[in-house]
Amino acid sequence: RPRSIADLPGVGPTTASKLVEAGYTTIEAIAVATPEELVSVAGIPLATAHKIIKAARELLDIRFKTAKEVKMERMNLKKITTGSSNLDELLGGGVETKTITEFFGEFGSGKSQISHQLSVNVQLPTDQGGLTEGENIAKAVYIDTEGTFRWERIEQMARCAGLDPELAMENIYYMRAVNSDHQMAVVEELFGLVPKENIRLVVVDSVTSHFRAEYPGRENLAVRQQKLNKHLHQLSRLAEIYNVAVVITNQVMAKPDVFYGDPTQAVGGHVLYHAPGVRVQLKKSRGNKRIARMVDAPHLPEGETVFEITECGIRD
Ligand code: ADP
Repeated sequence: RPRSIADLPGVGPTTASKLVEAGYTTIEAIAVATPEELVSVAGIPLATAHKIIKAARELLDIRFKTAKEVKMERMNLKKITTGSSNLDELLGGGVETKTITEFFGEFGSGKSQISHQLSVNVQLPTDQGGLTEGENIAKAVYIDTEGTFRWERIEQMARCAGLDPELAMENIYYMRAVNSDHQMAVVEELFGLVPKENIRLVVVDSVTSHFRAEYPGRENLAVRQQKLNKHLHQLSRLAEIYNVAVVITNQVMAKPDVFYGDPTQAVGGHVLYHAPGVRVQLKKSRGNKRIARMVDAPHLPEGETVFEITECGIRD
């Protein structure tokens, strides 16, 4: 049975190397691509692109499934604990792989703290709420757009979680994205890195800041949204193909009326409008307490819960 994309019918050496260069390194990546994507990156005829994708899908058994099969697949998906059982419960057990989870809220609402915590917790064994199976340590990628990542916080959270802090820091791959194009290029690069390094969580904190800064105001709204949608599509492909959890954060102002007319900043403020995924709104409460609210989740009940940000990280 073919293992590499070069074994797919219609993929010659030249096409194979063009596809690999563009990030389509696996049969999985080909299977979920659109024919138009392959045409544009590999310069092959549309009919060939159709044929290649069809072959990849057949190989991977992408077909109609019964609802019962879907149920079994979903139930077998592992979740990453947030550190707070309240927040886990709101999320239906934790942050799920093959899914984009968006945390949105005002400055200081806990978006980065949750991102740090998940980057630590993914490394825990599966029976402790992580995704490490035996010796195969689950790792994280942290894409930081605003320079808010703190290794000191990782060290602290890892120690509290019972992990070796030095090792925990070695299992988080950090990248500062300097602008939106760089941010998107980094995600493209991940199609190569993620399967090689057993990366099971990809954080983008924050997903929106560069896009907002580079395409400000209502006059740039259409272009900004188009680019952002492309980025979200990249991330959801990554989540789906490699069975990773994608966590994105999105800062929204406390006063949404300032952003009237901007769908990336409307009341509620989340960016995952029509994209599948889970959206959680975070709000400041008294002291270290924060309120988390589930927003139009397709399969989870809407609701609210309270958690705390402590020295050790996210807790009840
Ligand atoms: P944002 O939503 O802007 O990303 P953060 O996730 O950075 O917000 O949350 C910042 C808040 O986290 C601080 O206001 C503070 O309440 C809390 N916090 C940060 N570090 C610590 C710590 N070491 N101990 C306790 N609370 C902390």
